[in-house]
Parts: sequence; C-alpha cells; structure tokens
Amino acid sequence: MSVSIEVRDVSITFGSGPTAVKVLPTVTFSVAPGECFGLVGESGSGKSTVLRCISMLTDIWTGDVLIGGRSVRDMPLIERCRTLQMVFQDPYGSLHPRQSVRTVLNEPLVIHKLGDREERIRKAITDVGLPVSFLDRFPHQLSGGQRQRVAIARALILEPSLLLLDEPTSALDVSVQAEILNLLQRLREERGFTYIMVTHDLAVVDHMCDRFAVMLRGEITEVLPREAIPGNQATHAYARELI
Ligand code: ADP
Ligand code: MG
Repeated sequence: MSVSIEVRDVSITFGSGPTAVKVLPTVTFSVAPGECFGLVGESGSGKSTVLRCISMLTDIWTGDVLIGGRSVRDMPLIERCRTLQMVFQDPYGSLHPRQSVRTVLNEPLVIHKLGDREERIRKAITDVGLPVSFLDRFPHQLSGGQRQRVAIARALILEPSLLLLDEPTSALDVSVQAEILNLLQRLREERGFTYIMVTHDLAVVDHMCDRFAVMLRGEITEVLPREAIPGNQATHAYARELI
C-alpha cells in the first residue's frame, strides 16, 4: 500500500500581468514509500499551495508530480481520490454541518460504487478510535478532536496510499493534538501510508516526520532528517533560525 511521491519543478503563479504573484518559484522533493515527510515554514510560505498542487485542487501549476511513478495529471479524478486524500486544519470547516458522520463516510463509497458499505463505515470509525454509536452524530455534537478523527476516517474510507496532512492538529488543544498525532502515527505503522505533513510546529516534525523540508517564500531552503532538530544541524541561516 506504500507509494512514493516525486514533486518535480512545481511552480505556480497567481494572477497575471503586473499583479501576478509567483507563490512557488519552483519546488522539488521526493518522498519514499511509507515515509512521513514534513513541510515547515512560516505562514504564507506556500506549504498549503504545495499540497493543493499535488492534489490537483488547483491545476494552474507547471512541473510534474509523480505518485508511484504515475503523473497526477494523467490520473482521472476517481483514481486520484483513491490514491491520495487530504486532511485539513479545521475539521469543523471541512465537515458539512447537516451531514451525520454516517453520511460523511458513506458518500465517497457511493460515488466510487463500493460495496459492503456498512462494514467499511464501521471499520473506518473504529479505526480512528470512535464508537460506532457516533455514526449518528452531527459535527456540532462532536469535540474538535472527535471531528478531526471523523475527517481522518473520511480520508481513510477509500483506502488511499498517500495522505496530505495540512496542519491537522493546529486547531486543537495541546492534549488533543498529541492524541491525533499518535493516531496518525499508529495508522502509518499499521498501513504503511506515505504522509506529507504540513506544519509550522517543529515539535510535530520531531514527533512524526522522518525528514522535513524548510520552506521560505515558496522555496525549499533545505531538506533535513528529523535527527537534525536536537543539535540544530541546519546549514541554511533561515532553517537554523526556525529550528
Ligand atoms: P502557507 O500554507 O505556508 O501558510 P499558502 O500556501 O496558503 O501558505 O500561501 C502562500 C502564499 O500564496 C500566500 O501569500 C497566499 O496569500 C498566496 N496565495 C495562496 N492562494 C492564492 C490564490 N488563489 N491567489 C493568490 N494568492 C494566493
Ligand atoms: Mg497553510
């Protein structure tokens, strides 16, 4: 189930003419199957934009992204959804207020015409540590951490191999953050997922990531192993400062 990802010379410019903004001049990195790769950098450095390019939430970028050697541009939407899923920072914003947890989890199964739906739904909810009775709840009947668990269950339901995590714990209390990180860690160990984890928090990188890239104004200044954090072995001045 593990898959590699190669991001090659990805570049994106928003707008045109004199007001054009090159948000990503060019970004290149690769992630090994089963690896957790961090993207860190201050707000506005382009981390979310990288994930939006990889997932084709926007398609106005140039360059290429290969997942398991296959270009995301060549993947039909349906295949892309079964290969990669995203988890966003704000689980309240990403869940529909009028959809029960069961509906949230059922929808992708219907769209992708998958059978054994009830069984898959029950497995997904228990895999993220929530009781089956929560399937009948609505987002407002869940805590922040529980909502993020539901968002993770929704990402898991199509059994993708790559998860793009965009600050998945930033909106949560510190104690809940640790629970969600532990859940993500356990899922990765059990299923061999490949993760790209966007965060501005080096403690999260230290907890989760094998390697991480430091981003500054849309560019990767340096890629470092997690072991570079304790003794601050970064060579680039900005990366050193961040650590
Ligand atoms: P980060 O996730 O690191 O905080 P983002 O990737 O969200 O950063 O944004 C990087 C920069 O790109 C920001 O300056 C943001 O304003 C700009 N940006 C993002 N999306 C758009 C867009 N659709 N149009 C114009 N600018 C955008
Ligand atoms: Mg962001």
